[in-house]
Amino acid sequence: MRDRPLLNRRLDGLGTTIFAEMSALALSTGAINLGQGFPDTDGPESVREAAVRALRDGRGNQYPPGPGVPELRRAIADHQRRFYGLDFDPDTEVLVTAGATEAIAAAMLALLEPGDEVIAFEPFYDSYAACIAMAGAVRVPLTLRAPDFRPDLAALRAAVTPRTRLLLLNSPHNPTGMVLTRDELAAIAELAVERDLIVVTDEVYEHLVFDGGEHIPLISLPGMRDRTVSISSAGKTFSFTGWKVGWVTGPRELVAAVRTTKQFLTYVASGPFQYAVAEALALPDTYYADFAADLRAKRDLLAAGLRDAGFRTYEPQGTYFITTDITELAPGTDALTFCRALPERCGVVAVPNSVFYDHSTAGRTQVRFAFCKRPEVLTDAADRLRKAFNG
Ligand code: PMP
Ligand code: GLN
Repeated sequence: MRDRPLLNRRLDGLGTTIFAEMSALALSTGAINLGQGFPDTDGPESVREAAVRALRDGRGNQYPPGPGVPELRRAIADHQRRFYGLDFDPDTEVLVTAGATEAIAAAMLALLEPGDEVIAFEPFYDSYAACIAMAGAVRVPLTLRAPDFRPDLAALRAAVTPRTRLLLLNSPHNPTGMVLTRDELAAIAELAVERDLIVVTDEVYEHLVFDGGEHIPLISLPGMRDRTVSISSAGKTFSFTGWKVGWVTGPRELVAAVRTTKQFLTYVASGPFQYAVAEALALPDTYYADFAADLRAKRDLLAAGLRDAGFRTYEPQGTYFITTDITELAPGTDALTFCRALPERCGVVAVPNSVFYDHSTAGRTQVRFAFCKRPEVLTDAADRLRKAFNG
């Protein structure tokens, strides 16, 4: 038994996620946690009450239907029509998952075979590397570079080989905050059609785009309706990251493939919460607009504080996160060393972007801070950082 590692070698080196490591550090040191991306204020009271009602009324306390409760599948289809003019059949083209995390895992396990290549932007959300590895596939990173983190479309084209099976895209992008433009999406769509690629899009920050920007689902572009698996989640949009309600929308055949693997991962999850999220999705436009405006103000507050403390900040167009560079602040220090020492040094937790890159240097000095926290918490964190680094 001991003549080989206990952990499946495909997962070699993946260890404990950086979010778990840094949140544990926040707990043990009592530091302010601007590492893992979760809000410190729960979502709307009416949505919480909807969950309580579902629990009390016995809706979802036993296994919900495998694809998700009909109320939620209909609400997801309505949401796609309302915000993007996209039509999906709630019975065959919508699948409810245990967060976007399960949707990503199920999509990779369903659509990949050993040796297939998957092109993904790096820095990538950490579960991408793990899920591609679990499928026995090979990740091919396309490096997004500071300061603007725009994808190099020529490099993307050059990265496609006969073994490329799919593109795994994330916009708005965690951790950089980059949001793909219509022109970039059009170029990606053209390439996908030309090379007959499947595209999986992680859109969990779809409602967190700032400064008049727009989230455009890739599936809405010509040629993409039949080859795109769109993934999103209630966690970010409604500030209930613990509920783990996510979903997949796409063409019937792709959704069926993802459903096949999903049923053997969790089978189903989050019964009563599914009913509550169905109500949340129907909240009025003002909810969505106010939520984005609130996050934008928090972005600006934390960005100003980080600059005062001496960090170089890269302004995010969306998401919960600001990526910074520490080169001037801590010459010679890499992001991981910096983040491991930060809680002891000044009582703040952040996340090193370097762990989200395969590239050995591109993210070496990048540190990510989450701004989905109450203003007084952001101000306190910024004060601590300023005192530690800028007198
Ligand atoms: N994708 C990205 C880019 C994320 O940042 C996250 C984490 N919030 C997820 C997927 C996972 O979402 P969920 O919590 O719904 O599983
Ligand atoms: N998506 C969150 C982040 O990027 C973390 C989720 C997790 O811990 N898996 O911070």
